[in-house]
Amino acid sequence: MGKGRFAPSPSGRMHLGNACSALVSWLSARSADDAFSLRLEDLDDRCQSAENARLIVDDLAWLGLDWDEQLTQTARISAYQSAFETLCSRDHVYPCFCSRADLHAASAPHASDGTPLYAGTCRSLTPQQVAQKSRVRQPAYRIEVPDKTIEFTDGHLGPVRQKLAAECGDFVLRRSDGVFAYQLVCVVDDALTGCTQVVRGDDLLSSTPRQLFLYDRLGYGAPQFFHHPMLLSPDGRRLSKRDRDLDLGELRARHVAPERLVGKLAFMLGIIEQPEPCRPDELIGEFAWAKLPSHDLVVDGSEFLA
Ligand code: GLU
Repeated sequence: MGKGRFAPSPSGRMHLGNACSALVSWLSARSADDAFSLRLEDLDDRCQSAENARLIVDDLAWLGLDWDEQLTQTARISAYQSAFETLCSRDHVYPCFCSRADLHAASAPHASDGTPLYAGTCRSLTPQQVAQKSRVRQPAYRIEVPDKTIEFTDGHLGPVRQKLAAECGDFVLRRSDGVFAYQLVCVVDDALTGCTQVVRGDDLLSSTPRQLFLYDRLGYGAPQFFHHPMLLSPDGRRLSKRDRDLDLGELRARHVAPERLVGKLAFMLGIIEQPEPCRPDELIGEFAWAKLPSHDLVVDGSEFLA
């Protein structure tokens, strides 16, 4: 039996886009008779709270979704530490003292996800330079990427290629505040908890080659990846946690029934032919990746309220 997962960050109330992602990941797993895991990506305490995590769990259950296990990343630090040490022993992982301002000032071209492409400033520091810089600043740790093209077949979008060094650059495994970075923890969790399918929004498509590189370096077998279309607001922005009017708190306060929301999302995604209210379990037999569009979808929140 395989396993799927939904991995929200508790940085705010879920919006319609997060509900859509949860529904698609759940349907993809359940329609394959797979188990389903809920993982709260709660490592970043700068903008996350236990109350947000509680609301996510409550909103998912309200939508009619269920899961076989629930994990929080703050309980799994030792697993990340040991994977980090494995990479340090096998690869060139080096301390990077560049500040955010340094990274932008280096004016390197931007990597495919919008972060500045790392210019390699700290890649070859001598032990003396490291010791000296460590007195003033805590370093982040980066892994050197090879000049290699990573290729994989997305279960929804088809073949994807990325040149690691040219399009992504050496990337951070541990931030300067000691928090393990998303690319590392996501791989460790998906691999060690036995996820066989990773479903997430296509905003994370450019992270997947980096993650596949880490799967390889850590000796883990990779899952199948599926990237689903994102929901856009009528002005073309991706929905974000700042779009308070479209969050589940607002929708629930306005007495929108979960079946109405699920039915409308399933209709927008092409899973059903009419926007009729339904529960997620009624959609299991209807779900097929081939029905979903491969372009992002514009959503007008008022349609959900009417
Ligand atoms: N925590 C990430 C987010 O909320 C999702 C990570 C993933 O699904 O790989 O965007």
